[in-house]
Amino acid sequence: MNLTEKIEQLKKEKKAVILAHNYQRPEIQDIADYTGDSIELSRQAAEEKNAKILVFSAVDFMAESAAILNPEKTVLLPSSGARCPMAQMLPLTQVKMWKKKYPKIPLVLYVNTLAEAKTECEVCCTSANAVEVIKAIDADTLLFGPDTNLAWYVQQKTGKKIIPIPPGGFCPTHLLFMKEDALLRKQEHSNAVIMVHPECSPDVQEIADFIGSTSQMCKYAKNSSSQRFVVATETGLLHRLKKENPNKEFYSAYEGGVCPNMKLNTLERIYLALKTEQTRITVPAAVAKKAKDALEKMYKLTS
Ligand code: SF4
Repeated sequence: MNLTEKIEQLKKEKKAVILAHNYQRPEIQDIADYTGDSIELSRQAAEEKNAKILVFSAVDFMAESAAILNPEKTVLLPSSGARCPMAQMLPLTQVKMWKKKYPKIPLVLYVNTLAEAKTECEVCCTSANAVEVIKAIDADTLLFGPDTNLAWYVQQKTGKKIIPIPPGGFCPTHLLFMKEDALLRKQEHSNAVIMVHPECSPDVQEIADFIGSTSQMCKYAKNSSSQRFVVATETGLLHRLKKENPNKEFYSAYEGGVCPNMKLNTLERIYLALKTEQTRITVPAAVAKKAKDALEKMYKLTS
């Protein structure tokens, strides 16, 4: 039996489902039951009524959210070291400090935070629904963390004042994209459409034809009459874009835009995770309860 067949067999035996983020390696996306962004995967995880195990091929905060929303299931992260550096940039102490400084301003946290930070916020948001969430809150000024680039994007789109929690977090992978590369690619590929993730810096966002989360990019590319696209987000998304649109062309704005944390997951590690049921992701009950409120409020505001 090859590795893929062994994974399939273990999945059946253990009633497991594999959920892979859009930034996962192509071979993982191909064997996954579902591929998507963090919100799509969390929703899917909750739909899996018969599954006992969720193999969350992504990074720590996404697996934590899956564990919070699915307490009756075992959530496994194939690579224990797959941690998002942006989430680590906003520790609980920092959140508490800035909340104390602005006690009357509602705090919104990007889902790219650890569960304990989520316990302090009014509501969470993803890059796909940040604008909708911020618009739905009855306040003109909001405190936001950790991503300063997403904060900038939301401020442009909503006209509200968004205060990024100092010193400000960022995604080291999306920071690698430069407008010069994207514009050169656009020129090389007959005026291709430039799609940019809001975690990219403002100057890259400013030259975009379309700004959106990975799921929004997939939708946009599918519905667009354009044939060629330059993509400024982690290169893993190109696999899904090409698969869903075999007649269109997709080019990375910068091939070095690879998240080393996302890529820690491999087929071998998925096989071992299923076999040993490690690494299990659990969240203490008191933390999970409060973080769940913030996540569920997000779903309520955007449903
Ligand atoms: S791409 Fe950026 S935000 Fe996403 S997991 Fe990697 S470091 Fe974190």
